[in-house]
Amino acid sequence: MTRDYPINKTRNIGLVAHIDAGKTTVTERILFYTGISHKIGEVHEGEAIMDWMSQEQERGITITSAATTCFWELSQKEDADTYRINIIDTPGHIDFTVEVQRSLRVLDGAVIVFDGVAGVESQSETVWRQADRYGVPRICFINKMDKMGASIEKTLQSIHDRLTSDAVLLQIPIGEGEDFEGAIDLLEMEALYFEGERGHKVKKEEIPEELKGKAKQKREDLIETVAGEDDKLLEKYVEGKEISNDEIRRVLREATLDNRLIPVFCGSALQNKGIQPLLDAVINYLPNPGELPPVEGVHPKTEEEEKREAKDDAPFAALAFKVATDPYVGTLTYFRVYSGSLEKGSYVLNTRTGEKERIGRLLRMHSNNREEVDGIFAGGIAATVGLSDTKTGDTLCAQDHPIVLEDITFPEPVISVRVEPETKADEEKLSNALNKLGDEDPTFKVRRDSDTGETIISGMGELHLEVITDRLKREFDVKVDIGQPQVAYKESITHEAEAQGEYVKQSGGRGQYGDVWLRVEPKERGEGFEFVDKITGGVIPKEFIPAVEKGVKEALDKGIVAGYKMVDVKATVFDGSHHDVDSSEVAFKIAASMALQNAAKRAESFILEPIMKVEVVIPDKFFGDVISDLSSRRGKVEETEDRDDLKVIHSKVPLSEMFGYATTLRSLTKGRGTFTMEFETYKRAPKNIAEEIKEGKK
Ligand code: GDP
Repeated sequence: MTRDYPINKTRNIGLVAHIDAGKTTVTERILFYTGISHKIGEVHEGEAIMDWMSQEQERGITITSAATTCFWELSQKEDADTYRINIIDTPGHIDFTVEVQRSLRVLDGAVIVFDGVAGVESQSETVWRQADRYGVPRICFINKMDKMGASIEKTLQSIHDRLTSDAVLLQIPIGEGEDFEGAIDLLEMEALYFEGERGHKVKKEEIPEELKGKAKQKREDLIETVAGEDDKLLEKYVEGKEISNDEIRRVLREATLDNRLIPVFCGSALQNKGIQPLLDAVINYLPNPGELPPVEGVHPKTEEEEKREAKDDAPFAALAFKVATDPYVGTLTYFRVYSGSLEKGSYVLNTRTGEKERIGRLLRMHSNNREEVDGIFAGGIAATVGLSDTKTGDTLCAQDHPIVLEDITFPEPVISVRVEPETKADEEKLSNALNKLGDEDPTFKVRRDSDTGETIISGMGELHLEVITDRLKREFDVKVDIGQPQVAYKESITHEAEAQGEYVKQSGGRGQYGDVWLRVEPKERGEGFEFVDKITGGVIPKEFIPAVEKGVKEALDKGIVAGYKMVDVKATVFDGSHHDVDSSEVAFKIAASMALQNAAKRAESFILEPIMKVEVVIPDKFFGDVISDLSSRRGKVEETEDRDDLKVIHSKVPLSEMFGYATTLRSLTKGRGTFTMEFETYKRAPKNIAEEIKEGKK
């Protein structure tokens, strides 16, 4: 088993964009050009390429894999090596931002695609902030330069205003809108045109006369910005000395990897313009896996911090980032290798389950076929078949060097719906299918209501659940009835309080004795549950403390005010008593649960409701109607902006008011309005609303 590509010739990237910005089209073009370049090595140029292209077009390139491998040669002559680029899929729809989050965790660099007319849109902003959180280096591609109204200056301005002042142009377009012809490379100072079938020939020419002045000015800006990132370069710049393109590229690369600068490119994926330079930029400015700091995790037993370097001879550590069901091979588990290497047929440890699993087959996905490989190395991405008990977010590692890598954190579902099989025969099929879907998608949850016996599924939005129920029918052939979607409310407390819970039965037979004093305190939103044991002198014996914690958790899950899960609470057990004979785990569990309920009541518990970030885009003339409709939904408009003759409304609206919004918006705007919505946070529901929720009216 030998490594076929050195780690420094590898890039793991993702493309992310607001829906409709052109991510799919850009990806398709990337796979197309990389397909050609890879073929060029094997067949003669000319007819063979055309031949291959038409075949490809007929078959259609598949870009649905969670990770697709392709190959690219830099067009700079001095580096003729081939690079492997792994493209990690990032879904486009807003309901699936968690999927984007999941992929941001395993990719090393991102290409953010913008619509050159619309500029920065809500999801680009969300994704940008998430990329900030994970420190993902990125480059920008301003797409749709051919579209009427496209403007590089305006789009760059909106990036500067809404995302970062560190974005710097490396290209300017030759013409905009219907005059768009190609791009000017501000480093090489040449004009790039894209010719031949599907633009596969990049032609370099002199910059058109009328753009020479502008290009010179922009190049000057670029050099000044880049020089500011490096002392030596700055010195040269100030002294008016010549700075070479290689020097600029080197410093720009360092600054991009370090998130200090963000290079910006432009083009039109639809018209096959600008994609090859973008691929060069992926190689030039995004990191190889070996350039990243060692991945961090903890030892599953000792909980001590562990680090793994991206080296082939380090202990194996990988993160499973996607579990997919493939119609031909079954369950596919995609994983990203952070350190070490793995031979097919060997065993790995899943640190969540504590079980070892055999990696029977290793697959690498290309755009049109899958390749069986013998081994996988640090920095690589592969899929394996038939892991039965590995979920998204699990760590797979060397058995003798266990590590738990930081799990991917997913938000809790905000909406739920009851599903019922149409026939008894579908019952088992349904539960199998739901379990499979749950393994694939960590934001999708299934539970059985213990009172009614109904199956409840929950997810991140109406659309998310629609996709799931649609998949039940199409992929698993299960017919189901769906109930009305319900908002997943939560509960929490206002202030600190203490209370006792006593469970004592000492008349006849074996007695019961549990006595617990608890203190509850509110935590920050999203911090979750914390349990603290402050018992001294053994008033509650050590062996009963886990039962106390369990009782507290069960009471929290059941809720106090209206039966919704109580969150963001710190519970401290600080006193109590026990009986030598009658005390038991069950008694303490019940006592703790009672103590929690008593304390939570004293702490003024309340209901939390999910608040959504809603962006509505409408023609100007509907503005008034849409705004008043949003405020009747308890919406808060935070900002409105003009986008040509459209108005963009940024608002926050409680999820419970957003059911059926698509229909209302359509009728208010004669079908011309669009909106996107995603979960923002949980907030305390106002009193009157809380009453309605308690009465089951919301
Ligand atoms: P995604 O939702 O981000 O994946 O966007 P798609 O790639 O599906 O593109 C959305 C729409 O924009 C489609 O109708 C594309 O044909 C169109 N589109 C994509 N790229 C361009 C472009 O460069 N110029 C123009 N004019 N339209 C484009």
